[in-house]
Amino acid sequence: MPTSEELFWLDRLDEADREEPSLAPYAMRSRKSRGRLHPDNPHPFRTLYQRDRDRIVHSTAFRRLMYKTQVLVAQTNDHHRTRLTHTIEVAMISRTIARRLGLNEDLTEAIALSHDLGHPPFGHAGERALDACMKEHGGFEHNLHGLRIVQLLEYRYPDFPGLNLSWEVLQAMAYHSKRPDTPELQPFLQPGQPLLEAQVVDAADSLAYDTHDVDDALSIGLITPQDLAEVPFWRRALERVRQRHGVLGPLQLQPTVVRALIDWQVGDLLDHTIARLRANRIHNVDDVRHLHSPLVGPGPEVTALKTELEAFLRREVYEHHRVQRMTAKGCRIVTALFNEFSRAPHLMPDRYARRAQEGSLHRTVCDYLAGMTDRYAQEEYLRLFQPFTSV
Ligand code: MG
Repeated sequence: MPTSEELFWLDRLDEADREEPSLAPYAMRSRKSRGRLHPDNPHPFRTLYQRDRDRIVHSTAFRRLMYKTQVLVAQTNDHHRTRLTHTIEVAMISRTIARRLGLNEDLTEAIALSHDLGHPPFGHAGERALDACMKEHGGFEHNLHGLRIVQLLEYRYPDFPGLNLSWEVLQAMAYHSKRPDTPELQPFLQPGQPLLEAQVVDAADSLAYDTHDVDDALSIGLITPQDLAEVPFWRRALERVRQRHGVLGPLQLQPTVVRALIDWQVGDLLDHTIARLRANRIHNVDDVRHLHSPLVGPGPEVTALKTELEAFLRREVYEHHRVQRMTAKGCRIVTALFNEFSRAPHLMPDRYARRAQEGSLHRTVCDYLAGMTDRYAQEEYLRLFQPFTSV
């Protein structure tokens, strides 16, 4: 039972106060946030960023990540990553790093959980196909589309469009975009660096996919352990595992090397980031923003090892003929659906058909398509183009 003094303490502290003891001086505080675009009352027991996180998890776009491709189309088997499990891994690694650095863990988690919301079906192949379809109509990029989802397309709240997330989460999405000249991004972009919480998610994203893409490619049989002998990062992690555990059977060996790789990268990133924070005398959020380069990231040795690993992944996995076949099929489906709905917008559900009629035909078709999961896009394709098999 808590004592009466402890109960009094609970009464006195609001959530933003409770955030305070765990934060370093250079962490973002919810109290210092620029807030939300649409007025919204504070919640009695959740901070601004906790609420952002909850709104993201409750969104339709988040649930759809379950059936969206990371690298391999969701139907390949039931064991490899999808965009949802990738997102959860990124959030988990990001929180570990944020906590160790004294950053705002709730903000970091919200940024991580939203970082891939704008991906269309069929991964980067789907993104390229939609961008080509939208060439004359403003193009398509997943970060920009993510911002559209959380600012406009989600429709679950009566008082505002989208999720009305805090400015800091929106800014992290904007900084991630490969098209910084886009007018919609300008309100969010400032000269200098993103918040450390956003930098952590960026680094964790890259660390997570490099590692899990090797794991998935091995499990699916796109590459073999012998192929990985030419990759120094993998070989050295394997040596560490052998030193520690001796000879392991195949069921434990692969996941143990994967864990060792993640642990090595996170430890290295923490050491080098802490050293940079000290060397640059970082005392507050403004110090972070005014620097010319990001503070969060691996040291030179791991950076070089990662570069070699990424070259291997590009050559042996992303360009593997089995992956290429799936991506070609994905492109074909996205392009065919785009052309068909642009020709006949009344074939889309009412909500989209109405919007298309009101004027923004191609962007509406693009929004509808980008929201689809791999599975739904394939079913739509069959529904629209497969000849009737029976009368
Ligand atoms: Mg990602």
